[in-house]
Amino acid sequence: MHRGFVSEFRQFLVAIAVAAVLGLVIGYPLYTLLLANVLYGAWTLYNMRKLERWLTTRSIGQVPNATGFWEEVYYQVSNNRERHNKEKHRLQSLILRVQETTAALKDAVIILDDQASIQWWNQSARRLIGLQPGDHGKPIVNYLRSPRFVRYLEAEDYSEPLTMPSATDSDQFLSFQINRYGQGDYLMVVRDISRLQKLEQMRKDFIGNVSHELRTPLTVVRGYLETMADNADSLPGVWQKAISQMEQQSKRMTLIIEDLLTLTRLETDDSSLRETKINVADLLQSIVHDAQDLSGDKAHQFEIDADEDFLLIGVIEELRSCISNLVYNAVRYSPAKSQIILHAYVDEGGGHIAIEDHGIGIEARHIPRLTERFYRVDASRSLDTGGTGLGLAIVKHVLSRHQALLEITSRINHGSTFTCSFRLDRVVKEHRPSSLNDSE
Ligand code: ADP
Repeated sequence: MHRGFVSEFRQFLVAIAVAAVLGLVIGYPLYTLLLANVLYGAWTLYNMRKLERWLTTRSIGQVPNATGFWEEVYYQVSNNRERHNKEKHRLQSLILRVQETTAALKDAVIILDDQASIQWWNQSARRLIGLQPGDHGKPIVNYLRSPRFVRYLEAEDYSEPLTMPSATDSDQFLSFQINRYGQGDYLMVVRDISRLQKLEQMRKDFIGNVSHELRTPLTVVRGYLETMADNADSLPGVWQKAISQMEQQSKRMTLIIEDLLTLTRLETDDSSLRETKINVADLLQSIVHDAQDLSGDKAHQFEIDADEDFLLIGVIEELRSCISNLVYNAVRYSPAKSQIILHAYVDEGGGHIAIEDHGIGIEARHIPRLTERFYRVDASRSLDTGGTGLGLAIVKHVLSRHQALLEITSRINHGSTFTCSFRLDRVVKEHRPSSLNDSE
């Protein structure tokens, strides 16, 4: 553009110079200069009009004839138009491809703006959520009214997907995963997980049913074994040993079945309605009472270091089973007379219950897998102590139902600490009535 302007300016100066010389020759320099300026102005206006007309026409193919500055202008504008058109075509074909790809997806993809209003959706969103062509700009909660979905959307914690039955088809189970992107917009992917959910339900039902069905025959076998053990004195030595071992193993089987049934219950029923305020210090006290029986001759030293005002909102039977499992493990995996401390405290991060033992400890590589069903650090260890391999799986389930986390720290031959951390909204700090009131 710079070159065009310089040549135009040069032409203008030449015209002015010619007009001035001509004016001096004929004796009217001012008139000729004025005339030259008027002519130049008219020429410029003519070119501007031509440019405007060309810009407003659709065809960009033919560039009008022009010279100097105007030729340069036409050249630049035409170049920009061509580039712009190419970019437009590229974007159009990209959008088309994205639309074709998302239309082929089985999952619903929905884009919401920062107010959670619907901006765009693919074909599957029609099928799974029932969105219609005129729904652009409407709030998504008009279509997904379930309080669970509204809570999930508002909580802004999308680390885990939300799974719930479809509002339109009760046989259908949907999983909602939200991602935030750009300037606060939402990308929501909705998946039909009915098949997976059905399989998961079948698995839970199967374990539940098998455990339940095994309970009765096992009770009969145990009954006979107990009677035989009571009268074992008259039997040969080899039989006495066999009967005692059979009795031990049948007891273990019963414990495994009881734990499996507990796990099934934890996975299937909704216990949130049974939540109450639990005084943690009292709960620990009663668990220690039972643990002392388990410890028996090993005489572990129990200590409770609990904040007396710490009340926890939860399901008492589940929390009792969870903390008991941790305390019983501490008893089983610590030497006789060693100290076991039960801590309960509240800090700015929430409410915590920690079970500290001074036992055999666990190697760091095992810690991430301890809560898996039947995971054992050393099979012989658990067989010796009569463990079922399900205790920590129960602990994990109970804690996840209370939105709590389990942290395990341990040092071989020094001991372990299992800490359950509950969110602050489950903690109530309530001053306990004084001992005077207690005695009333
Ligand atoms: P188990 O019934 O075998 O004890 P758990 O699920 O309760 O099953 O525990 C899994 C494994 O974790 C146990 O086999 C044991 O090796 C280890 N473990 C659990 N608690 C402790 C502890 N307090 N000290 C040392 N090891 C432990």
